[in-house]
Amino acid sequence: MKFEDGIKLDFDDVLIKPKRSTLATRSGVDIERSYRYLHCKWWESTIPIIAANMDTTGTFAMSNSLEGFETMGMQTALHKHYSLDDLAGFFSSGWCTNTWYTIGIKEEDVKKLIAVDDIVRSRCPTSVGLGIERICIDVANGYQKVFVDHVRRVRNLFPHSVIMAGNVCTPEMVSELLISGGADIVKIGIGPGSVCATRKITGCGYPQLSAIIECADAAHGVGGHICADGGCREAGDVVKAFAAGADFVMLGGMLAGTDECEGEWEYSDGGEKVALKFYGMSSEEAMNKHGSGMGSYRASEGIVKSVPYKGSVSRILQEITGGIRSACAYVGAPTLKDLPKCATFVVRRK
Ligand code: 5GP
Repeated sequence: MKFEDGIKLDFDDVLIKPKRSTLATRSGVDIERSYRYLHCKWWESTIPIIAANMDTTGTFAMSNSLEGFETMGMQTALHKHYSLDDLAGFFSSGWCTNTWYTIGIKEEDVKKLIAVDDIVRSRCPTSVGLGIERICIDVANGYQKVFVDHVRRVRNLFPHSVIMAGNVCTPEMVSELLISGGADIVKIGIGPGSVCATRKITGCGYPQLSAIIECADAAHGVGGHICADGGCREAGDVVKAFAAGADFVMLGGMLAGTDECEGEWEYSDGGEKVALKFYGMSSEEAMNKHGSGMGSYRASEGIVKSVPYKGSVSRILQEITGGIRSACAYVGAPTLKDLPKCATFVVRRK
């Protein structure tokens, strides 16, 4: 057994220090980012926020709303439980540039992806080369060798797609997934999610702010990118994730309860939405719902909770983008790209 020295921090442990600034107004802050991806070599500009691939938040409706937000739009990682026909229909219906197709590690996931990709290509004969352009390969524990092999296999099958793979929380595994796996973006976060029970059940995890700082350093050193996934409970946490070096931030709980979610709603006597049942994708609830069941060898690593109805997702997005713009003004960052360079974290005593 070993101890690692050094304090590791979560979002709650820090604040960002205000600094003198020459920025006249927060409205002029540019919150779009432009990226060139390591392996597929795409360039893109986007507001780098992604709705999580949970079955409540990673929905077609979420994708439509986020895609249309401000000029460049935000992104959505669809959940993996849509039928082949629904996915093929969705991805064939337009350019869908901002939507991630999500798979796990099972063979049937890869077969379904290939089948959807074939249909999308056959229906869009003029857009040669365009099939499924963004692939999110998501497992709870990205530390297994079979996962790296799986990512490499998907990279070989889809050399021109952007691939995001995770989750991990330490630099050596980020390098492994980028260099050996062929991922363009690595998803960071073991245990911080709002409906995650991994830390409680397994004792494993890593404080998310430190994970982002350390993993961003590893990824950027080799030309890769990271997506901070989990633990953002309010707009200020999203700001801290970007300030720590995240290229993208993925959100589940913050978007749960909006009109764009699917799932079990609770209604008032008057028929109005009151709350949404929101649960972890490794919870017993999710496993029973999607037919895999829990299995006697494992414990539920997700919890179920009720989140209040929040109305349209655009209100939440505006709060987040407003928070980012204001934070940039507080530290003198003219663009979101400048935020990590301009931000100084102060650790608060609790
Ligand atoms: P949130 O934004 O709600 O804090 O975190 C969302 C993230 O939590 C998801 O993108 C996913 O990585 C993670 N997550 C979702 N469901 C579960 C679960 O059941 N168990 C664990 N350990 N993590 C989960």
